[in-house]
Amino acid sequence: MENKVILQCERCGKSFSYEKGGVGRMPKFCSEECRNEHRVRSGKEKQSICKVCGKAFAYQVKTRGRAPGFCSEECRKRYFLDLHNGYIRKRYHEDEEFRNRRKAQNARYARDRRAIEKEKTTSELINQLTEISDPGQVRSLLERHFKLKSGSHSLSGSISGGSEYGE
Ligand SMILES: [Zn+2]
Ligand SMILES: [Zn+2]
Repeated sequence: MENKVILQCERCGKSFSYEKGGVGRMPKFCSEECRNEHRVRSGKEKQSICKVCGKAFAYQVKTRGRAPGFCSEECRKRYFLDLHNGYIRKRYHEDEEFRNRRKAQNARYARDRRAIEKEKTTSELINQLTEISDPGQVRSLLERHFKLKSGSHSLSGSISGGSEYGE
């Protein structure tokens, strides 16, 4: 158990212990914060705050492009998933036709294996959405998505036939 060494952080000067093991380099900093801070100060990286989890993170400075809004791919997906779900919730409350369409859809999906298909379409949509940063474009993509869906399916049959399966 005598693998531990005491190191000094190059940024804040604090001592920290590090367990030696394998061939990796010894860390220069006591924490991720100090490591990020150092990179930011040295100009190689800048710091940004994740829109989803609020974590500060460092990112590589490039000549073009905005600061990234998310610390991770996971947070990026989360953001657009919430946007997507929020959009559906909002329209569900405000738009009666949309609501009825969703209800009919849900009834159908509940007894229909195509629920799996729908999942797939949604994740494809979310993948598309993650490529877009402009809110206007996001909106029009969502509009188009739901318009297409409603146009391509005839709901009349499934609405009247829904109750016999009662779920
Ligand atoms: Zn430190
Ligand atoms: Zn995050």
